[in-house]
Amino acid sequence: GTPLLEVRDLHVEFHTRDGVAKAVNGVNYSVRAGETLAVLGESGSGKSVTAQAIMGILDMPPGAIPKGEILFRGEDMLKMSPEERRRIRGAKIAMIFQDALSSLNPVLSVGYQLGEMFRVHQGLSKKDARAKAIELMDRVRIPAAKERVGDYPHQFSGGMRQRIMIAMALALEPDLIIADEPTTALDVTVQAQVMDLLAELQREYNMGLILITHDLGVVADVADKIAVMYAGRIVETAPVHELYKRPAHPYTRGLLDSIPRLDQKGQELFAIKGLPPNLLRIPAGCAFNPRCTVAQDVCRTEVPPLHPVTEPDGTALPGRGSACHLWKETIHG
Ligand code: SF4
Ligand code: MG
Repeated sequence: GTPLLEVRDLHVEFHTRDGVAKAVNGVNYSVRAGETLAVLGESGSGKSVTAQAIMGILDMPPGAIPKGEILFRGEDMLKMSPEERRRIRGAKIAMIFQDALSSLNPVLSVGYQLGEMFRVHQGLSKKDARAKAIELMDRVRIPAAKERVGDYPHQFSGGMRQRIMIAMALALEPDLIIADEPTTALDVTVQAQVMDLLAELQREYNMGLILITHDLGVVADVADKIAVMYAGRIVETAPVHELYKRPAHPYTRGLLDSIPRLDQKGQELFAIKGLPPNLLRIPAGCAFNPRCTVAQDVCRTEVPPLHPVTEPDGTALPGRGSACHLWKETIHG
């Protein structure tokens, strides 16, 4: 069937005093109901900007979408009436951000803020909205929800606040949740708990989930597929476990080699040298070429398209793609 959400050839640019920053340069991805797509990249890779374009929260101007489509159930949101767009972005797609403390109002109780979703969108009475708020707090496993419904955001731990954000996102039972670095501000153990909760609720509600992260370590157990972004493009796509086992792009390989491993304690980690490019001056050819240890001449002149990745004998590997001129050497050695 039709994907829940499909981004097609999306371009986003920001007009600044120093020139045009090309933040997103032809991104394609899709997510189905019940599916989790992880979008992985360093800051400045365009992963958050793509999500902001979907949610209609780009600063506009200076942000502009010169080209592309954002299809929700097959319909281009960029061509809808503002009211139709608002309806989808309000009730069908919810977003969770990294920083719960700045997303929640500090002077209103969490119960009030959760209940507001039901009062405003479903016209529930104060009493019924409060009951719904407690139910949601239970859903995201906040202990003693009944006693804590009147507490304020600062009275909760970081992990609990992020659960409240998840509850807010779930309130209207959206079809799709976009979570931008939802656990980055948390301790490692709390990160795993929040990620597990999110994955569990996603299965339970059969939602689509787009998980945006810079951390390969947090998505392995929850994502179905991964899109790796660099300088506003997707450089590799793969089912999650295949990506870990056999990366087909030197950048992905570098990211994998940078994950600390317990059995290698004391050994120096390989980290990718250099920095992501300035989006005002993206290098010609493959944007990764100044940092790539295997770059060839062609890499400095020709932008590599996303090649379908196959086995050496040509057998297709569904869902796999690599935007590297040397993808064969990279995956098959
Ligand atoms: Fe490296 Fe060239 Fe592949 Fe880019 S296209 S990742 S520079 S080998
Ligand atoms: Mg970001």
